[in-house]
Amino acid sequence: MDKEKISTITSSLTALYNEKQQASPITDVVHDADFLAKFGYLGVANYFVKSALQGKNLYNTLVSSLSKELTYAASLPSNMRTVTAKKFAEKKSEATLHYYQGLLDELREAGIALFKVVDESFPCPKNPDKKFILRMVVPEACPECSGKLSLNLVSQTHTKCEQLTAKIHCVRCMNHYQISFCLPEMA
Ligand SMILES: [Zn+2]
Repeated sequence: MDKEKISTITSSLTALYNEKQQASPITDVVHDADFLAKFGYLGVANYFVKSALQGKNLYNTLVSSLSKELTYAASLPSNMRTVTAKKFAEKKSEATLHYYQGLLDELREAGIALFKVVDESFPCPKNPDKKFILRMVVPEACPECSGKLSLNLVSQTHTKCEQLTAKIHCVRCMNHYQISFCLPEMA
């Protein structure tokens, strides 16, 4: 390719990771495609493959990252930059949320794991007057003692993103864990 095109493409791609750099239509298309690939039936299949490669079983996968998947799936259409991607995103968002809800229902019916999905309204870090919905997935009770679990949410500015940390602890025993993920840009 000629040098000018190479330069346009490389600066478009750099803009994905650097807010100060001017985004181009190429940046927006790659941004949307990157998100769309992670959702819908194919996205969910790849999500489980990736978790398995990281050595996580089903329960650990759901505990550690389903909150992020559901939060991003629910906000997918509003996170899109192009009109075409928004159309795909609506379909993929619905399919993804439907799939995970069905999975949680089946785990419950089979007595394997009891999770609840809690929608938490959270102030947008960049604009605290606006609220953003986090879809958190937490065990219904402490796996150790069946005590009640309490959920505490904080966000802080990280090098790459606004990072949310959810601290979950049992009110009865010492059992606790925390999960962290980057909030969607629209937050
Ligand atoms: Zn406990």
